Amino acid sequence: MEDKDRKDEYEKICLMCRRPESRAGKMLEMGNDVCICQECLQKTVDSMKFSGVSFDDFMNYMPDFSKGGMPGNGGSSSGGGGKDKAKQEIVEGGSVSGDPEDPEKKDGKENQERRTGGIPTIGMINLSDILGGMGMGIPRQQIRKKKEKEKKPVKQLDINNIPAPHKIKASLDEYVVGQEHAKKVISVAVYNHYKRIASGTDDVEIEKSNMLMLGPTGCGKTYLVKTMARLLDVPLAMADATSLTEAGYIGDDIESVISRLLTAADNDVERAEQGIVFIDEIDKIAKKRNANQRDVSGEAVQQGMLKLLEGSEVEVPVGAASKNAMVPMVTVNTQNILFICGGAFPGLEDIIKERLNKQASVGFLADLKDKYDDDPNLLTKVTVEDLRTFGMIPEFIGRLPIFFSLESLTKEMLVRILKEPRNAIIRQYQKLLALDEVQLEVDDGALEAIAEKALEKKTGARALRSILEEFMLDIMYEIPKDDNIGKVTLTREYIEHTGGPVITLRDLGYRLGQGEAQN
Ligand code: ADP
Repeated sequence: MEDKDRKDEYEKICLMCRRPESRAGKMLEMGNDVCICQECLQKTVDSMKFSGVSFDDFMNYMPDFSKGGMPGNGGSSSGGGGKDKAKQEIVEGGSVSGDPEDPEKKDGKENQERRTGGIPTIGMINLSDILGGMGMGIPRQQIRKKKEKEKKPVKQLDINNIPAPHKIKASLDEYVVGQEHAKKVISVAVYNHYKRIASGTDDVEIEKSNMLMLGPTGCGKTYLVKTMARLLDVPLAMADATSLTEAGYIGDDIESVISRLLTAADNDVERAEQGIVFIDEIDKIAKKRNANQRDVSGEAVQQGMLKLLEGSEVEVPVGAASKNAMVPMVTVNTQNILFICGGAFPGLEDIIKERLNKQASVGFLADLKDKYDDDPNLLTKVTVEDLRTFGMIPEFIGRLPIFFSLESLTKEMLVRILKEPRNAIIRQYQKLLALDEVQLEVDDGALEAIAEKALEKKTGARALRSILEEFMLDIMYEIPKDDNIGKVTLTREYIEHTGGPVITLRDLGYRLGQGEAQN
């Protein structure tokens, strides 16, 4: 680290009273990291007055702090050999420009004479020089306390700086494979949301664009939201609806999600109020059918969330998940917080199918009854009516005006997920092995075999990492053993357990080069 940066990191401490800058106020730098606070300096001046030294004489004698440095006067107190050094400091420090040869600087010389001659008994000495000379240099860590972290200025949204939907989508394209419709909808919704915040309240109030995302597990719902929040640099809180219960029951209060958002925003209320809350597994708070008891984790949670989604002021604890007497509270307005809910909605497909079949069996639109049986993207045909049948209360769905679904991932998409995104899993492994100067290649057959295995697991793209991890384990274990390995290629045979990976040794030139280097 640069010396200057290191200095900025620490507080100055008064050499006399030992108080840090934050308590003692502005310090006067005496050079060589020695500082004195104004109060101590004042006391010194007062005591000098008391002992008969006039203030004018003292001020004449004082160094010019603004230019840094500290004059010595060559007096007896600067010690043996200090005379020359002190003289040099006077010239270098720029505080006195006494050059006997230069008539223009004559005034400086006179000044110097006056200073050295005016107060014969008092010599200004460089304290750090003395302490250093006595082997008592003060270690920086000991004398300085770390400054408190500077607060980041709150980023104010500027209506002209919100990236346009096509730019948001282009950035999402770098990370999220496929899901074109979802990326388009979310880009427009987020753009409108922040435009709404930036424009403030006008006569025409623009409605909030909370969203509901439907899609099978592992198809990228969470990933999409996370990527979006990172690209826009807004705080994001993620919560799981399964853990939420009505206030007073075991589980998390609904308002705890706002508390998490506040934490994600470094307890900055203003920033939190412009953040995004993602609530996953929202289908788990559907109304329980045939429930005889109070539905504390279902309908009651939906009811409780209504006011949050709409926009209200909630009291949340700062720096803690639950409210108690010891934790300070702040009020957060959820008016501008964007809520995105996501869920797999298992069973919703049957509801949609039933509705579609009913429609298809009447009149001249009548169609085959099993037409929708094999449709993998039935969720895209969802309507508000289907969600109500599923168990979401109308008021809740009404507060999530934008709803869209994500496609289930196909084999081709899984192959692309393996290699295309900026931080694709294969790229991560390639980088890891490149640190050992080994190349990793995964041929097309292997990519397809991994995707096929992942499809069988029915957990979407989430399965890809665990599958690849399993095959990479042996490779990562063996490679550092042998310096001669230059390249590893994963093949379909290796993934299907009918063969091994192809190992290529480094070319002779490289090995010779290495040998020479070793000799
Ligand atoms: P869910 O839809 O259940 O919320 P996630 O978003 O958590 O699934 O996806 C799990 C992981 O799978 C992500 O971390 C991401 O790496 C990967 N993934 C899922 N879908 C995609 C996609 N469309 N493009 C790129 N990666 C994806």
